[in-house]
Amino acid sequence: MVGSVAAGSAAVLGGGPAGASAALLLARAGRDVHLFERQEGPHHKICGEFLSVEAQRDLRAMAFEPLRLGAVAIDRVRIVSGSATVEARLPLTGLGVSRLVMDEALLEAAQAAGAHLRRGEKVLSIDDCAVHTTKGRFEAETLLLATGKHDLRGARRPSAERPGRRADYLGFKMHWRISAGQEAALGNAVELVACDHGYLGLQRVAPRVMNFCALIRRDGFTGSWPALLAELARQDHIARRLDGATELFARPCTVAGLPYGQVQRPADDRAGLFRLGDQAALTAPLTGDGMAIALRSAALAAESLLAGMGPADYTRRLRREVGAQVRKAMLLHRLASLPLTARLAAGLLGFCPPLLGRMAAVTRLQTTP
Ligand SMILES: Cc1cc2nc3c(=O)[nH]c(=O)nc-3n(C[C@H](O)[C@H](O)[C@H](O)COP(=O)(O)OP(=O)(O)OC[C@H]3O[C@@H](n4cnc5c(N)ncnc54)[C@H](O)[C@@H]3O)c2cc1C
Repeated sequence: MVGSVAAGSAAVLGGGPAGASAALLLARAGRDVHLFERQEGPHHKICGEFLSVEAQRDLRAMAFEPLRLGAVAIDRVRIVSGSATVEARLPLTGLGVSRLVMDEALLEAAQAAGAHLRRGEKVLSIDDCAVHTTKGRFEAETLLLATGKHDLRGARRPSAERPGRRADYLGFKMHWRISAGQEAALGNAVELVACDHGYLGLQRVAPRVMNFCALIRRDGFTGSWPALLAELARQDHIARRLDGATELFARPCTVAGLPYGQVQRPADDRAGLFRLGDQAALTAPLTGDGMAIALRSAALAAESLLAGMGPADYTRRLRREVGAQVRKAMLLHRLASLPLTARLAAGLLGFCPPLLGRMAAVTRLQTTP
């Protein structure tokens, strides 16, 4: 540690659910926390925007109520593959929530708890206890890395450097203004629709607003968003959902080349760095548990730090809590990405829809009381 660094100070790098909630918890515990977020203001993020019951629980444990964000109750899951549709009640009610709204509210809560929010300040690199940003250099006793999908110079995820670990998927997200009829047809379900080169998730996130989030293998991408939409709309179900609907962003949010399935090992990392959220464990999007993992990692990191534990102990605890769930989610993700298995699964589940609810339960993050 550098002599001039304030004892107990922390720099949290990245203001998504992981970073904002870690900053909130540490600030509430009386720590001097600086939270760096590169975006100047509220912004959309690629996400299916399904807030699982585990994520809701962790938010409420911080006295943060997700229902006040205008979220929509999601209590059913509908799997669509070709002409087959299977529907079941979810074991527990999730929420459809706009990430722009939720992430902003979490940043405000962290700030209200006393964290110094440094907006529009992009972290360029880190070394030892120093953070180099677009606005200068900053030192803190502890660094918590929560930049999500984005690797940072001086702290790349070890597995991200190994070729072959990155599945070549492209992610797309768009909000659509839908008609009253489309809203009624979508109802309170999250729809998972298999397509030739991946799958997409559809659900409501606000009155008359549908989130559309697709994960498509690169070899199936025809080169442009309009071309992708045209191809997807060859499926009757997708065509019905999009017919006459209006795109609400100028262009979709996109992401590519993420190392899905990667869970950090204690030995992988440089000493002194707490990795949170997607930086620590990147689960398959299909199960809608990424935000739950982000929130859990933040709670565990704050608790470990305040108890005087180091990053290696924290990482071991996190692996124990999320490792199995990520493995199961990846298995489902691989199956759902293959059109034939997706079709077979939809057919089989058609005989016993309650199995679908059981499947949804099995892939959830297990909660330790
Ligand atoms: C296609 C897809 C669908 C998904 N669907 C769901 C779903 O339905 N439900 C669910 O729970 N999860 C879902 N996820 C996962 C979920 O989005 C992530 O797990 C979650 O956002 C992780 O939170 P985080 O705080 O780690 O990172 P992020 O939410 O990505 O936040 C990182 C923050 O760091 C900031 N940042 C990045 N680099 C820098 C820098 N250099 N300096 C300063 N700030 C920086 C970013 O601006 C951002 O605000 C999905 C993911 C994908 C790819």
